Amino acid sequence: MPVILGVLTETAALETRVAMVPEIAAKLRALGVRVVMERGAGALAHFPDASYVDVEFGSAASILSTADVLLKVRPPTLAEAAALKEGAVLIGFIQAYANPELVRALRDRGITTLAMELVPRISRAQSMDALSSQASVAGYKAALIAANSLERFLPMLTTAAGTIKPAQVLVIGAGVAGLQAIATAKRLGAVVEAYDVRGATRDQVKSLGAKFVETGVSAEGAGGYARELTAEEKLKQQEVLDARIAASDAVICTASVPGRAAPRIVSKSAVERMKAGSVIVDIAAEQGGNCELTQGGETVMHAGVKVIGSLNLPAALPYHASEMYARNLFNLLKPALTSGELSIDWNDEVFAGAVLTHQGQIKHEATRKAVEG
Ligand code: NAD
Repeated sequence: MPVILGVLTETAALETRVAMVPEIAAKLRALGVRVVMERGAGALAHFPDASYVDVEFGSAASILSTADVLLKVRPPTLAEAAALKEGAVLIGFIQAYANPELVRALRDRGITTLAMELVPRISRAQSMDALSSQASVAGYKAALIAANSLERFLPMLTTAAGTIKPAQVLVIGAGVAGLQAIATAKRLGAVVEAYDVRGATRDQVKSLGAKFVETGVSAEGAGGYARELTAEEKLKQQEVLDARIAASDAVICTASVPGRAAPRIVSKSAVERMKAGSVIVDIAAEQGGNCELTQGGETVMHAGVKVIGSLNLPAALPYHASEMYARNLFNLLKPALTSGELSIDWNDEVFAGAVLTHQGQIKHEATRKAVEG
């Protein structure tokens, strides 16, 4: 029996992305998979139903009751989890730490859950890395929001009316999103500098033509991620950064530490040292923000500075964000599809790393401890 792969319309507030695009639906069909989608699921991402060839459309209820594999962008609701076929496979961003009740429901229904945020960040899995694909969308958009919110030019201009000085942009956090923000601000002609606690980012920042802010503090942690800084390190970092923040027209905040609240890097007093008309775009708002004044989903004016707490920026570019996400899902699923049937190799470190629940158990250790104690 060919595997039935279901896709729902995302119901989270302001979500516009979809987990399936026509290009990937065609590839799945070629592999003998039956794709069923909720009517209008791709509409907000500008993929009308008619653009999907060989896909069957139905209601959410019919998809939940027939799908062997359900693809999602955001975590399913409790009602969706309850309506899934027992033993079905669910793949999407699950954010287990924020959704313990959902994780228990998935465990109890015997759902095999593969969490996209748990896909190991190894070279072989780069094409499946949805955290990276969506972060690069967010970084790009953050730079555009900064440019658009700043009531001045970004590039240097030489005109008959004299020369305009380029804007100074500071990017805090040079992970996937930060690097994309740097590249985008550079393309727009700004003078860009960037800071990250991981010294390994220094060369990446420089290769994009930006200056690396040296604070004398390094926080290399396990697995390529940052560790939390000591109080002394934070103070030292802060003095240097405060001066750079004050000198910037736009600050783009992207710093985060996995599984924790975002580090507070831009204080109220640092904002007060910025020139009136400056802008802060804080995409760490999702985890509480890097700026003390950030309010998620809002723009706060303080001492003439706009502090923009951007949430879910990938949803602002849903066409390409969905395309990239659907490709990530396909690259993850493909090795498990043979002659239209699904068979997951649990010895494969990608599946072993991404599995959250399976056969009535929570497989991810940190989640199991958090949810079951
Ligand atoms: P992230 O979203 O978790 O964090 C963003 C950035 O914030 C990181 O670069 C981090 O070092 C930085 N940061 C944390 N605390 C900070 C502080 N106090 N001050 C300044 N900066 C701070 O990171 P991400 O973009 O998802 O990925 C982090 C890194 O993981 C990448 O840059 C890359 O090197 C690595 N990675 C590897 C692979 C792979 O090998 N397949 C894929 C993706 C990412």
